[in-house]
Amino acid sequence: MRDHAAYHWTLINRKEQRMIAETAPSLGTDFYLMDDLLTDEERAVRDKVRAFCDREVIPVAGDYWDRAQFPFELVPKLAQLGIVGGSIKGYGCPGLSAVATGLVGLEMSRGDGSFTTFYGVHSGLAMQSLAILGSEEQKQQWLPPMARLEKIGAFALTEPDHGSDAVALATRAHRDGDAWVLNGQKRWIGNASFADVVVVWARDDEGNVGGFLVEKGTPGFAATVMTGKISKRAVWQAEITLNDVRIPAGNRLAGSRSFKDTSKVLTATRYGVAWEAVGHAIAAYEAALTYTRQRAQFGKPLAGFQIIQQRLARMLAEITSMQLLCFRLSQLLEAGKMTDGMASLAKMQNARRAREVVADARDMLGGNGILLEYIVARHFADMEAVITYEGTDTIQSLIVGRELTGLQAISR
Ligand SMILES: Cc1cc2nc3c(=O)[nH]c(=O)nc-3n(C[C@H](O)[C@H](O)[C@H](O)COP(=O)(O)OP(=O)(O)OC[C@H]3O[C@@H](n4cnc5c(N)ncnc54)[C@H](O)[C@@H]3O)c2cc1C
Repeated sequence: MRDHAAYHWTLINRKEQRMIAETAPSLGTDFYLMDDLLTDEERAVRDKVRAFCDREVIPVAGDYWDRAQFPFELVPKLAQLGIVGGSIKGYGCPGLSAVATGLVGLEMSRGDGSFTTFYGVHSGLAMQSLAILGSEEQKQQWLPPMARLEKIGAFALTEPDHGSDAVALATRAHRDGDAWVLNGQKRWIGNASFADVVVVWARDDEGNVGGFLVEKGTPGFAATVMTGKISKRAVWQAEITLNDVRIPAGNRLAGSRSFKDTSKVLTATRYGVAWEAVGHAIAAYEAALTYTRQRAQFGKPLAGFQIIQQRLARMLAEITSMQLLCFRLSQLLEAGKMTDGMASLAKMQNARRAREVVADARDMLGGNGILLEYIVARHFADMEAVITYEGTDTIQSLIVGRELTGLQAISR
């Protein structure tokens, strides 16, 4: 039985690999030659991550997704790429440009959404919390081993009763002598069941929100993996309970004094999610293009029909505008001009467009579009998480709306 399953997956992986190989770069998605805008270093980073995904990630992604298992085998291989920590400078991190950081997210999600979320939680949410809000000592302690993926991070903001209104979080951090004592619950926390350090967001005795570093094995901390997901099945989110979790006073992120500081991290990582959405759309488009060129109905390849060509052209138009949005946003980020609203607009717009592209691709593969072996189904399902996490479509629009009108629509 086991052997049969392994054989079955070998076949599937070969088919996936063939489909990718047959999608030649000339048919690719860089229609407006944005490659010309890249530096040699950015191009090298992109190519390295793409090769890693084609060689290591895509062949196993469907199987892990189906079994809802996390691909731990890929973690040391990812470490070897030297990209973890993204744009963070120093502390063993690569100090990538904004564009290169974005391209890493794009290529990773073109490979697999679940592994991208593992990477995004660790390298984005957890490491950026430390980089933006940590003291020198906290950065020195955590960032170098995290960049080598020897220590894994998680970011615990969402609670059972507070998702979009995370600003109203109920987890408490009480100061007791030289310690903080944490009590509360968290939900949807990526990597938390095996992370070495979890950045837990909690409200102190004065009512101010701060980030608190909870290390693996701290008594009173329990994380249970959530099951039954229809999206991003191969990455684990956990429900956490914090029951009188006692941590040293020095474990509060030094620069975290209010929810505004939490938002600084979220703005940085929403930038990454905007790129991530493009990767899903590209994977689905590439598969639809390859499939419709091969699949014949009514006596000729589907791609030879006018309506299919129109649909492919529209998909490529969406992808191209998503790419342009990301490239401009990266310039704004690099110049220190990116506002919360700009990051939210890109996340909102790209997630929405990518959701349409993956749905279109799924339909263009007919019945095969719901089979994991044809790749598109996984991206179709994974986009459902992208549309929701790091702030839903609605919440992004309300952040943009606040910048447009000067009026706060989401305060309590
Ligand atoms: C796969 C996955 C991974 C995640 N990883 C993490 C993680 O690592 N760490 C973490 O802290 N969190 C994580 N999250 C949580 C995520 O950020 C939340 O799911 C998200 O913020 C939405 O919160 P919610 O699910 O509670 O939905 P709700 O906030 O309950 O929203 C439900 C619906 O109501 C709408 N809504 C809410 N407020 C308004 C309003 N004012 N006006 C109009 N409509 C409104 C929303 O847009 C949505 O459509 C993850 C979620 C998922 C699905």
